[in-house]
Amino acid sequence: MSDGDWSLDQVLAMQTLERLQSARRVLMPMHQNVDADGLASPLALVHALAPHGVEAIPLASDGQFPSNLEFLPGIELVKVYGKDELPDYDMLCLVDCSDRRRLGSFYADDPLRVNGSVPIVNIDHHVTNDRFGVVNVVFPNAASTAEIVADLIGRWGCPMTTNIAQCLLAGIYGDTLGLRTEATTSRTMRTAADLVDAGANPATITDSLFRLKPRSTVCLWEHALRRVSWTGSLIWTEVANTDLEACHAQASEAEGLVNFLAGTEGSRAALIMYETEGGWRVSMRSIPQDVDVAAIAAEFGGGGHPRAAGCQVKGSETEQTAFLERVAELIVPRTDSI
Ligand code: AMP
Ligand code: MN
Ligand code: MN
Repeated sequence: MSDGDWSLDQVLAMQTLERLQSARRVLMPMHQNVDADGLASPLALVHALAPHGVEAIPLASDGQFPSNLEFLPGIELVKVYGKDELPDYDMLCLVDCSDRRRLGSFYADDPLRVNGSVPIVNIDHHVTNDRFGVVNVVFPNAASTAEIVADLIGRWGCPMTTNIAQCLLAGIYGDTLGLRTEATTSRTMRTAADLVDAGANPATITDSLFRLKPRSTVCLWEHALRRVSWTGSLIWTEVANTDLEACHAQASEAEGLVNFLAGTEGSRAALIMYETEGGWRVSMRSIPQDVDVAAIAAEFGGGGHPRAAGCQVKGSETEQTAFLERVAELIVPRTDSI
């Protein structure tokens, strides 16, 4: 295990704080289908920036967030796009978002919102991040954005309150599946330990993220598991809108399923295709170190991390089959000829 090969310098940390302090109000729209890191990291920043005189407002960009994240301290501060009134803002801070187009309806309703006329502070750990900000705090070797935020907050001299620590540990646990993924380093673990010392409660986080679930989740998994298929060494399934309706479930409830499928004997990668208008949203995972799903997703205009990535597929069954066959081709082990 490596020690986490990234380092944030004090100058960049202070430039980031000064930028944020220069705004009247900062809006923090989250990436679509937001996860624990994508929601908890901006929330931690909201808590930490308030004593520095920065008013920051987190925004659920696609009109919702998963109910299992409601335990996060400060969740009541989150505005929901399309439901709550959009506040005035003169700066954007994107946290855990690799690409400005991943801002759900907030982007789709008016792409000019992220064209740079409102300055953007970009804090992220995706290898596919294209450094779109006026300030870019981007470290692909960090296992979660929460670790970067923990470092920033320390460098700003903010006290690590229990609420901030709880948010940040939730972000770390979310992206590392509880310190279990390949991206987890000794530094990740040390940061997590420091957060526990500051009052974060790992049991609450583990229960909320990985153990407790509504009955609708079991129903949804049952539906999705019944139609698990293989294309070569790719194991995959589909979640249709009719499944969500039949089970009264949110799509985020199937998230654990793709991780479950990825560990199946004989598979090199797993994916779930979620039905969307005119196609599918794809969630991909791999365990073998030589299967880079971020690179595969990038071929289809998506992105993510080497072991967890996503993209969109437009079209009908023909395009779906072609996509699955291409992915199956890309995950075949390389037998480099001499
Ligand atoms: P998910 O499968 O939705 O949990 O996403 C896995 C990882 O890939 C996360 O880090 C996402 O932010 C990233 N990701 C998912 N879909 C896309 C996409 N269309 N473009 C770029 N990154 C994505
Ligand atoms: Mn995320
Ligand atoms: Mn993340």
